[in-house]
Amino acid sequence: MSTGQGDRGAIRGALLWMVLVLAVVPSNAVAGSSQELQPVRVQLKWAHQFQFAGYYAAIHQGYYREAGLDVSLHEYRTGISTVDQLLGGRVDFAVADTGVLIYRSTGVPVVALATVYQHSPSILISLEDSGIHELEDLRGRRAMLGGGYMNAELMAMLNRAGITGEDIRILPSDPDPRALIDGRTDAYNAYATNESYRLQQLGIPYRVFEPRSFGVDFYGDTLVTTEAVIERDPEMVRDFRDATLRGWEYAVEHPGEVIDLIQEHYNTQNKSRDHHEFEAREIIRLILADVVPVGYMNEQRWRRIEQVFREQGLMAQEVDMQQFLYQPERQITAGEILWRYRTQIGIGLVALVGLLMFAHIISLRVQIRRHTGELEQARVRAESDARTDALTGLPNRRYFYEELARDFAQAQRHDIPLAVITLDLDHFKDVNDRYGHAAGDDALRNAARLLSRYMRQGDLVARLGGEEFAVACLNASEEEARALAERLCREMQDSETAHEGEQFRVTASLGYAMREQGDSMEQLMNKADQALYAAKKAGRNCIMGWRS
Ligand code: GH3
Ligand code: MG
Ligand code: MG
Repeated sequence: MSTGQGDRGAIRGALLWMVLVLAVVPSNAVAGSSQELQPVRVQLKWAHQFQFAGYYAAIHQGYYREAGLDVSLHEYRTGISTVDQLLGGRVDFAVADTGVLIYRSTGVPVVALATVYQHSPSILISLEDSGIHELEDLRGRRAMLGGGYMNAELMAMLNRAGITGEDIRILPSDPDPRALIDGRTDAYNAYATNESYRLQQLGIPYRVFEPRSFGVDFYGDTLVTTEAVIERDPEMVRDFRDATLRGWEYAVEHPGEVIDLIQEHYNTQNKSRDHHEFEAREIIRLILADVVPVGYMNEQRWRRIEQVFREQGLMAQEVDMQQFLYQPERQITAGEILWRYRTQIGIGLVALVGLLMFAHIISLRVQIRRHTGELEQARVRAESDARTDALTGLPNRRYFYEELARDFAQAQRHDIPLAVITLDLDHFKDVNDRYGHAAGDDALRNAARLLSRYMRQGDLVARLGGEEFAVACLNASEEEARALAERLCREMQDSETAHEGEQFRVTASLGYAMREQGDSMEQLMNKADQALYAAKKAGRNCIMGWRS
């Protein structure tokens, strides 16, 4: 009983423990992923303007929040390239130009997540009255080409038109397009989205040379991050990228709304609405030019850009595009998942081992209990066997004497009458001889049945051995004892034993005795035996009292 209660207590304890483990583990995971927003920093490539419309849309449409991210946008101010900002760990993502490929070729672990601008906004501008109608007209003239990748893009265009660096005088760049108006250069590197607007505003006619027209087709703004960021939090990277591209899709569909947003929240350059609208038109043209999904990148396009950089002597090493181009489906490996969730997995494993151990202990207890039960049953059975006569199922001699001792003591203490009747089958040897031992057994069983049937409640009946039975009747008067003995004698005489088609009767002789003052139990049994002996002597199939 106490074992059962202990098990129930232990089961309750284990269930409580399981509930706690299950409650604690997921709540940690949830707290980390969605309840508090994860801060994410993005380095823009310039000051706020429509160029970054997708990010504003994603913020204000709640796309980042839905992904559990709190995104902050950082304007370009420091003179440090956005890729360097990224590598310095000050931001998680950066907007970069195609120059990022040059970084990668030197082994910098930067990864392109999505190309937002399918074409570069880089153009070369000359004034209409400069006499430059074709690129070849630039021969022997001055040009501001910008640095690095921009130089490469425009230089490649000039090369395609048959002009080399030696054919022109390359001037250092000037951020102010006035350099062109004031005649300080003949050609000026500009952004299709920006400087050309200023010339238009000033009403100055100008000519545009687009590298694309000369077969130099660079990508424009590209969203990049580092391998370390992806490794640290691949899901965040995936979610941020998805939300950003959703933002871009929204911005392209609703430029007016995004311009409102810029004017209200991000107009650090104090640009006019008209300027923003001009920019938006140019930018959407660059984003949607090829009618590809926003953010689409093509390895072949990157390869061609790489080719231009190599031609321009800007790149010595080929880039491993598998490493450079983000592959969302390949980013999260099983090992990374195991590593990232190591705490939860650890807790889970500990809980599992605990539960298995607990289950094992419970199972051992159950087995022990079952074995104990079996042993107890076997013990009871053995004890019962020791007290039961196998042939008739009646109590045996040993049991009879134990119980008689109890009755005897009670009778003695309370002076209650106690009768003992002994019964012996007559000429039983002959029965065996005549009908066989098995028939004799049946006759013994039949006698036992009769004795049991005519016993009163509380009487004790037993087979003492062989063909001898005894009955003890506590609280029975001598008359009652005698009446019972007579009845049994009569019933035996009338009862038939059937065995294998043969029927026969077996009579019995009975003796009875009453406990008398001063008798011991043995003396009482002796008296009953003497009475039985007297019944045998009197001719059998009769009863005899000790006194009679
Ligand atoms: P009596 O009338 O004087 O009692 O004669 P009896 O033949 O019954 O007396 P005796 O004591 O000489 O023989 C008893 C017989 O009971 C001998 C024995 O073979 C038989 N007997 C004892 N136990 C069993 C038993 O379990 N099964 C069978 N079939 N016979 C038994
Ligand atoms: Mg006998
Ligand atoms: Mg006999």
